[in-house]
Amino acid sequence: AKQTGKNNYIFYQEMTGKQLYKYYLTLKNDLMSAVSLDQLYLEYQPIMDSSGNHIQGIEALVRWNHPEHGVIMPLHFIPLAEEIGVIRELGEWVIRKAIKDAGEWNRRYNEALKVAVNVSKFQLKSKNELFTVIDSSLKENGFPAELLQIEITESDTVTEYEEIAIFIKELKARGICVALDDFGVGASSLFNLVKLNVDIVKIDRSFLQKVPENEKDTILLKGIYGILHDLGIEVVTEGIETIHQLEFVTAKNLSSLQGYYFSEPIPLNKLIELKDILHESSL
Ligand code: C2E
Ligand code: MG
Ligand code: MG
Ligand code: MG
Repeated sequence: AKQTGKNNYIFYQEMTGKQLYKYYLTLKNDLMSAVSLDQLYLEYQPIMDSSGNHIQGIEALVRWNHPEHGVIMPLHFIPLAEEIGVIRELGEWVIRKAIKDAGEWNRRYNEALKVAVNVSKFQLKSKNELFTVIDSSLKENGFPAELLQIEITESDTVTEYEEIAIFIKELKARGICVALDDFGVGASSLFNLVKLNVDIVKIDRSFLQKVPENEKDTILLKGIYGILHDLGIEVVTEGIETIHQLEFVTAKNLSSLQGYYFSEPIPLNKLIELKDILHESSL
């Protein structure tokens, strides 16, 4: 899957404007039936605790296995799905599948892994239907609401503040955990962030890219950890790729960890191999 993703990238690079336009037109058309033709699948990326030794949760990330073009990554089709309105059906499929998968995993291994699902502001247009799916999925799978984490992108809160504030209240009333995703690139204010009352903030990976080399970014990141900690907000640092980044973040011991250093998004059945590696290295 990874290979195809990379090939796809080169493929886009080589296309002319006109070809790219036609390509996206085809994709939009094909996307209409992607859910019903069972072409979507989920990969999961582990979220580690602050020690980096234990998996505390998994994030569901959708992929589209296109019959001609191979695996297509979400950044290339989620915006299209939002544009043509398929995001509703797609988002509901993701919720159902993620809760079912995590429920089976937790029963099978007697664990309490959290499962994180991304939701975009466009999905709030069909919010009632979304909640019907969430509620019924939790019930049917006997899955605790506390183990479901809904991720909302910080930049969505800038444009859709009121709508999202209500959505968050409704999620929290159910005991569902709310994370603010890609924090640091959306230019929302810290004051609004506090008012939104989210449980978790996920620091965007662009933040970590120049740490610890860039002194100002490092100071900023340390400060953010401190503020969020004092506010009682949990932190996940995204995009940990190197041992140096890991050492910087774990030294603060204030953040859960996510990134290629631990694992790329993988099929759920591959997660067991990661668990074995972690288990062996802790013996
Ligand atoms: P996100 O929610 O911020 O998810 C994390 C993205 O960062 C994933 O990309 C993941 O593969 C990538 N990533 C994780 N660790 C690293 C790292 O160490 N280095 C680098 N360079 N990248 C890393 P992916 O799977 O391509 O997803 C991109 C975005 O698409 C997601 O960003 C999310 O906002 C959106 N998305 C994915 N699945 C869904 C979905 O089911 N529904 C909606 N609405 N959006 C989704
Ligand atoms: Mg996310
Ligand atoms: Mg996201
Ligand atoms: Mg993110």
